[in-house]
Amino acid sequence: MDVRVRALQTLLVQKGYIEPAALDRIIELYEKEVGPHNGARVVARAWDDPAYRDWLLKDGTAAIADMGYSGRQGEHMVVVPNTPEQHNLVVCTLCSCYPWPVLGLPPVWYKSAPYRSKAVIDPRGVLADFGVTLPPDQRIRVWDSTAEVRYLVLPLRPAGTDGWSREQLAELVTRDSMIGTGLARAPGVQA
Ligand code: FE
Repeated sequence: MDVRVRALQTLLVQKGYIEPAALDRIIELYEKEVGPHNGARVVARAWDDPAYRDWLLKDGTAAIADMGYSGRQGEHMVVVPNTPEQHNLVVCTLCSCYPWPVLGLPPVWYKSAPYRSKAVIDPRGVLADFGVTLPPDQRIRVWDSTAEVRYLVLPLRPAGTDGWSREQLAELVTRDSMIGTGLARAPGVQA
């Protein structure tokens, strides 16, 4: 795959269709600047502000854009809230669709065939692979991303965080908790 991508890139550069410097800039942007810290700020604000939470659940794209996060691979965002009754898990069974503006580039496992198939066949088993055990009566809903719709999980706010600032809250929001393969960190638990 690496070789094929490089061959394709060389060809596109030779034909003048792409500019290597521009390509590097895009990769750098998503590797270094756009990342899960964006999504964490969205989640922290939703935990802190019920009106924002309502807006986020009603119109994810607009509420996320209000934080300054928009663009490619995030044009149609749907935010799914975890509740004590339902845990949400996001996958792209077809390929690797992922909400770039809020989470950055997808982790390798997200794109892997084992994750993509097991997430729909045995979501509880996937969570176990990630070291997550849910209460048996909490159902798991799996959301299959598409080229049109990208999902972001709104994790449950950890107990013991009353009165915390949004900055403090955002520290508890991991990338995996926004995919659904993890939970938000409890206060005092190391990353
Ligand atoms: Fe995909």
